[in-house]
Amino acid sequence: MQSEIRSENKKPETKRKFDVIIIGAGPAGYTASIYTSRAKRDTLIISGVLPGGQLMLTTEVENFPGFAKGILGPELMTTMREQAERMGTTIIDDEVVNVDFRHKPFKILTYSEEYEADAVIIATGATPRKIGVKGEQEFSARGVSYCATCDGPFFKNQDIVVAGGGDSAMEEAIFLTKFANKVHVIHRKDILRASKVMQDRAFENKKIQFHWNTVIEEIKGNQKVTQITVKDIVANKVETLEVGGLFVAIGHEPNTKLFKGQIDLDDQGYIVLKNHTMTNVQGVFAAGDVHDHLYRQAITAAAFGCMAAIDVDKYLSEHKV
Ligand code: NAP
Repeated sequence: MQSEIRSENKKPETKRKFDVIIIGAGPAGYTASIYTSRAKRDTLIISGVLPGGQLMLTTEVENFPGFAKGILGPELMTTMREQAERMGTTIIDDEVVNVDFRHKPFKILTYSEEYEADAVIIATGATPRKIGVKGEQEFSARGVSYCATCDGPFFKNQDIVVAGGGDSAMEEAIFLTKFANKVHVIHRKDILRASKVMQDRAFENKKIQFHWNTVIEEIKGNQKVTQITVKDIVANKVETLEVGGLFVAIGHEPNTKLFKGQIDLDDQGYIVLKNHTMTNVQGVFAAGDVHDHLYRQAITAAAFGCMAAIDVDKYLSEHKV
């Protein structure tokens, strides 16, 4: 009797078995849970170390439809969380430490509990690589950004820096010339990793200046970034650039370490989808930046979350769960 009452109240400390467990609480995870909960699938989100995902580290979000005046990233994520809870989703702020997808129901172990689910949606996202220099964390979202599409328009008529030599860095540098006066590309080698076509486009762009064999040493500012110190490691020369921002584009790490050996990953560690949003394991789905290394937007992650939830509902119906 007592367990029934607890079950109705969906207290996470007493309830262990769910129709759907969603690992990760970014736009993909929250959106998926809104859909599965509305479809009356008993849903648990295990939010991980940074509930809300990358948007918790952003300031203004201008490109998420529905907010004509923009919205702060953390506010958007808090609102999504409230919406998920209103639909009936249980959310626990715990970290998953192990999963067992070999048998059904699937088992998910957190620091404090073991949970079971008939279906799982992995929405753990990807983490942008950090340069790891002084000022990077301090000025994150105050001039230091990891997404040009998201933050480029805030840097109109300014001089800015892009760090990296891959396709992302070239794409971001070219995109940012729409807004910035000048874009300094800082690359640690004298040769780019980017594809030839992206290199050519960047070389042709008069607003882009390349700094070869150069590393960022320090990011300085007051409220926002005002200066970046860079060092030419061949000439051993230090220079200070007067700039309003830094876009770090040195790659992403998909958060998939937990799933290695059970879920098929590509050579960069992103989840490979087999059947719409389903992974190689029947009943385990993925949504958002954890499989998508192309778009990486809050709105696309949310859309993938919706798709995974619809696929999960269909899967559970077909398997009479
Ligand atoms: P990437 O290809 O891994 O390139 C990362 C770049 O960052 C490299 O130039 C690397 O330098 C540099 N880097 C890494 N760690 C660094 C550090 N600690 N300090 C300074 N520099 C560092 O990553 P990506 O550019 O994000 O691309 C990822 C994948 O997506 C690639 O396959 C790419 O082709 C693809 N992509 C394609 C497009 C497109 O086709 N339009 C756009 C974006 C991405 P080194 O060269 O010295 O290693």
